[in-house]
Amino acid sequence: MKTSRTSFTAFLLCLALSAAAQTRVIAHRGYWKAEGAAQNSIAALQKADSIGCYGSEFDVWLAADNRLVVNHDPIYKGMRMEKSPSSALTGLKLSNGENLPTLAEYFQAAQPLHTRLILELKAHSRPERETKAVEKIVALVKEYGLENRMEYISFSLHAVKEFIRLAPAGTPVFYLDGDLSPRELKEIGCAGPDYHYSVLRKHPEWIQQSHDLGMKVNAWTVNKAGDMRWLIDHKVDFITTNEPNHLLLKQFINK
Ligand code: MG
Repeated sequence: MKTSRTSFTAFLLCLALSAAAQTRVIAHRGYWKAEGAAQNSIAALQKADSIGCYGSEFDVWLAADNRLVVNHDPIYKGMRMEKSPSSALTGLKLSNGENLPTLAEYFQAAQPLHTRLILELKAHSRPERETKAVEKIVALVKEYGLENRMEYISFSLHAVKEFIRLAPAGTPVFYLDGDLSPRELKEIGCAGPDYHYSVLRKHPEWIQQSHDLGMKVNAWTVNKAGDMRWLIDHKVDFITTNEPNHLLLKQFINK
């Protein structure tokens, strides 16, 4: 009797461990729904870290003076990211009262934290600007000693290829646009697909194919319980969400 109870406890433990290893949670633009945070703010990064997210995603632009800033929108409060000097962009306020951060400020705030940094380089107007941005990002990451916590993502296939070429070997680089098969991603050296969940629901076989090729699968931006459940059941490795504190995801957090 005692043995069977011990076995049952071991079984539950294995179940818990396998669940923990299965799906991890990435806060989309940080945990910006937390009090005092805003999308792509330093507070949102700190909040994502405070609840134990595996990673915190954020968006990066190369400003006109070749400095890197953190924001999602191509035009924010009337200022075009690519055409404005960083000094003008960092004078803009986010909704929580923070100034729009430079990437250097963001990295400085990230240094004492533990969450992984899921850096999305936005698609720029010219490939040369994306190459310049990747060069600057890789150099800044080195300066702040964050190489082991970086993962890169982009909708731009050119930017993805440049991260693979210029970041230290082994740094995960994921492609976002949903139009390449796992085998095509493997051939260019990607860590795997980071696709909208509707793409994975349309091609559920891509999840297993990615795993068979030694790649990981990320899905964005997953906010509804039904979609979370489907992705967890289909063993995706990462869920990127605006709801990192969702009841269904709590089992995977702080592990
Ligand atoms: Mg993004």
